[in-house]
Amino acid sequence: MAAELIDGKAIAARVREEVADDVARWVAEGHAAPGLATVLVGEDAASAVYVGGKQRACAEVGIRGFDHRLAAETPQAEVQALLESLNADDRVSGILLQLPTPPQIDGSAMSGLIAAHKDVDGLTALSAGLLQKNTPGLRPCTPLGVMELLRRHDVELEGAEAVVLGRSELVGKPVASLLLGANATVTTCHSRTRDLPDVCRRADVLVAAVGRPEMVRADWVKPGATVIDVGMNRTDRLVGDVAFDEVREVAGLITPVPGGVGPMTIAMLLRNTLTAARLAL
Ligand code: NAP
Repeated sequence: MAAELIDGKAIAARVREEVADDVARWVAEGHAAPGLATVLVGEDAASAVYVGGKQRACAEVGIRGFDHRLAAETPQAEVQALLESLNADDRVSGILLQLPTPPQIDGSAMSGLIAAHKDVDGLTALSAGLLQKNTPGLRPCTPLGVMELLRRHDVELEGAEAVVLGRSELVGKPVASLLLGANATVTTCHSRTRDLPDVCRRADVLVAAVGRPEMVRADWVKPGATVIDVGMNRTDRLVGDVAFDEVREVAGLITPVPGGVGPMTIAMLLRNTLTAARLAL
């Protein structure tokens, strides 16, 4: 029997509605609306589209947007000064430096200047440390989206065998930490892992974040497993890291690409911005 589909588009829409309701309640309680500052350096077209999408999403849920666009040749000191002023600005609950940055700017060092309680991308070393220690903090948006999809489908994580394919700072490592925090038994795989199909076949929950089109085949998947495909690969069309058509015949639950994890990232960014406003208190 074909796997049940996890509809990330519908779940993301529900999360956005919930954030809008929560923001309205927050404001009705007398607080200022949460604010998200985005900082874009340069004219990279894809980055401009991402930032535009984030700002529009904020407006839809009542989050105030601060859209900072700097010229491509802006010196690093100026970016640093802007981030420091945003750290000190009470109207700004969350700050996001859009990556990649132009070559004269060390994007990772600049992101590291963002105060932990405003780090809505959850990617600074401090936020990563808080996650590692399983203590409260802001978590990276795409990994949070993965967890939200699992939660909304009541996927049992306690004691489950979870296999994460990929160990990037952006996706693989934080997903593994979140699953561990949910008491799964977690194996993280990467390009040097031996017998990858065998390791994957152990998984009750398999999360693929490798960036290799349709790498995960049907015989890598335990019958009935939950398969979350984070991959977004442009071939002649957009495909994930999972060979969807064949894997859905084996899995119990599966995310499609597009329409699975993808829509969750901005939804969780909005939720993080509200969480950051609460943290500021
Ligand atoms: P990344 O930084 O390139 O990391 C890829 C990881 O996969 C690395 O840990 C790498 O291992 C591992 N890997 C690569 N080839 C492998 C192979 N043949 N066998 C086993 N492991 C292999 O990528 P990323 O940023 O994590 O992104 C992964 C995918 O998710 C991409 O398709 C990206 O577009 C997508 N993504 C989607 C969203 C979203 O939906 N919103 C957000 C972020 C990323 P090593 O560490 O050994 O090199």
